[in-house]
Amino acid sequence: MKDAIVFLGIQGSGKGTQAELLAQHTGFLHVNIGDLLREQVNLGTEIGAQVNTIIQKGELAPDEIVFELIDRRIADCCDGVIFDGFPRTLVQAEFLLQHYHVVRVYYLDLKKVDAIKRIQGRKVCSQCGTNYHITNHPPKKSGICDACGGKLFTRGDDAPSAIRKRVAAFYEETYVLKKFFEEKGELKTLPALEPIQEVQDMIIEDIKLG
Ligand SMILES: [Zn+2]
Repeated sequence: MKDAIVFLGIQGSGKGTQAELLAQHTGFLHVNIGDLLREQVNLGTEIGAQVNTIIQKGELAPDEIVFELIDRRIADCCDGVIFDGFPRTLVQAEFLLQHYHVVRVYYLDLKKVDAIKRIQGRKVCSQCGTNYHITNHPPKKSGICDACGGKLFTRGDDAPSAIRKRVAAFYEETYVLKKFFEEKGELKTLPALEPIQEVQDMIIEDIKLG
């Protein structure tokens, strides 16, 4: 069985960044389920078409599709995997335990109000897709991309009502998973508002101890 490290956390908690840093440190493969799904949509595959319809409705991709994409991606790689955006359901959590040796599940803890603040400030370049944040990572010139001079905009799914809905759904969904891994003694909670490198140091220290 391959080793697996899991990151749970809402958008804006920095889980993707932490997962990527840890992947560089451990040599494990960083697997972002959202990216795997979007890749299928962009490639125009049969799975992609199914996924697209589901995502448009704001629903979760079915477990079987998620499992298949993970199996394909991981089949002949690496000693271990860092999951980002997986598991999202209890069925997926059980799948994880059956197929991997779970080293640790990290939960990047961010309060609802802080999560909303972080997501709300996000801006994207209309030309090159570079991400900005009005307070955490502002462009040099307001509303203009540093990289290409393109105009920055707020994505449709970052509208205030969409954000509130997404945030509420996240906490509901994640509460169950947190409890599940807590009971198995695999969960470790990390403070998402601390500086990126400090959080990463906590993780590396924790893995050594484990
Ligand atoms: Zn740009």
